[in-house]
Amino acid sequence: MAPQSPTPTTPDPLVLAGAAETAARLAAGEVTSEDVVRAHLDRIAAVDGTVGGEEGVAAFLHVSGEAALATARDVDARRAAGEPLHALAGVPVAVKDVVVTRGTPTTAGSRILEGWVPPYDATLVERLRAAGMPVLGKTNMDEFAMGSSTEHSAYGPTRNPWDLTRTPGGSGGGSAAAVAAFEAPLAVGTDTGGSIRQPAAVTGTVGVKPTYGGISRYGLVAMASSLDQAGPCARSVLDAALLHEVMGGHDPRDATSLTDPVGALADAARSRDVHGLRVGVVRELVGEGFSAGVLASFRAALDLLSDAGAEVVEVSCPTFAHALDAYYLIMPSEASSNLARFDGMRFGLRVEPAEGPVTAERVMAATRGAGFGPEVKRRVVLGTYALSAGYYDAYYGSAQKVRTLVQRDFDAAFAQADVLVSPTAPTTAFPLGSRLDDPLAMYAADVATIPANLAGVPGMSLPSGLSDDGLPVGFQLLAPARADERLYRAGGALEALLEDRRGGPLLASLPPVPTVTAGRPEVAPA
Ligand code: GLN
Repeated sequence: MAPQSPTPTTPDPLVLAGAAETAARLAAGEVTSEDVVRAHLDRIAAVDGTVGGEEGVAAFLHVSGEAALATARDVDARRAAGEPLHALAGVPVAVKDVVVTRGTPTTAGSRILEGWVPPYDATLVERLRAAGMPVLGKTNMDEFAMGSSTEHSAYGPTRNPWDLTRTPGGSGGGSAAAVAAFEAPLAVGTDTGGSIRQPAAVTGTVGVKPTYGGISRYGLVAMASSLDQAGPCARSVLDAALLHEVMGGHDPRDATSLTDPVGALADAARSRDVHGLRVGVVRELVGEGFSAGVLASFRAALDLLSDAGAEVVEVSCPTFAHALDAYYLIMPSEASSNLARFDGMRFGLRVEPAEGPVTAERVMAATRGAGFGPEVKRRVVLGTYALSAGYYDAYYGSAQKVRTLVQRDFDAAFAQADVLVSPTAPTTAFPLGSRLDDPLAMYAADVATIPANLAGVPGMSLPSGLSDDGLPVGFQLLAPARADERLYRAGGALEALLEDRRGGPLLASLPPVPTVTAGRPEVAPA
């Protein structure tokens, strides 16, 4: 590819449009899906660079350009033939690399899965394909979704499009950054403790963790199965709702999948009415540890809600103070069990010991030693210890009790309020490298998002504006389990109020990301 000038680039109007707008233009025959996909592939080539390289956003681990174009052409032909199509047919999407994709490499950000090409699609990917959505590629993430900055990826960090010296959050920083940088209108993320919502917050995008069980886990590389939940990343609440509707609904292949219908989420996102809505501010999540700029943006958004007729009350959830501690026992415990399958025999990497006998145990030790990064090892050790005989009750057992108390705090709070709110993350995007030596500072990024995972309730982050440092702030909405529609109703309304005040979407004013001098190599099509 010819070198491009390293000057800022203004995105093509086809990539500036969101999913709903693109879907409408496709349906009206104003553009083809092939044009839309090409525009996004050009945008990726212009701004993404290569993960592990020195330049660019580095949101993608794999770009499946030819496969995406083939889907686009197929949809265009079917549309031309007058076939009835799904509303999002032809609208491209990026998928976090923790979700398995048939024929496309899936690494979960780990060396241990390098070179593994899954023989099947996750249920949610099957649904994207059935809807006719071209999959642009796989996005970068912290290894096995453990982290809050995407710096624990074995393939190098993703950079925040607002400031390339800062992290895009994590673990799903690739999905959030791809959407923020106009490389994809939509992306799929997963959220075990905040990995959709916290990256959304620090990249100025919308991210939703549905009710636990709302989107099938079949085909997700499991981290902590009782907490893991896939969800949508987008630039608007409506776009998130549209993607959520495609992926959601019962799946007999996931024993924890809800049997409820997915709900009229897009209609809820469009309704824009908060009159009489009881909004509960979680007292424990608006004080110490939250930066002044974040709190100012949060309060300003709260005022807009109250001016629009919402009733703002304060609620207290005292056990949220222990949620982070409980999470860092439950999550590593489940992860240490789930990661036992990476044994050098079944998937990806296999390393034989440099000397001595080649026994199964020694191959496992050599493979895991070479294939897992330091954060994954830390959690496997933590989890194994927390589950060990003699310590099980003291650690894992106590954490499960805290989990129950967190659920009770939610129950009590939802008796007083229809939705709960807080800032999504305590700070704006932090500089690359600034928390790598301090795991506790990294973990603290999820203090406001983790309670929802422990209780299984749905949560959304949407941008409330910019902090005093010029970086985006996320506003978190939480609803009771199975009330995802309520999140979209409140989120759509708040987004409209914010846009009226600002005169448009936050991301319309994104400083253009500089182009990179070298495009990323095309991965062989499926
Ligand atoms: N940052 C949290 C962690 O490191 C949450 C990760 C996630 O949601 N996947 O565990």
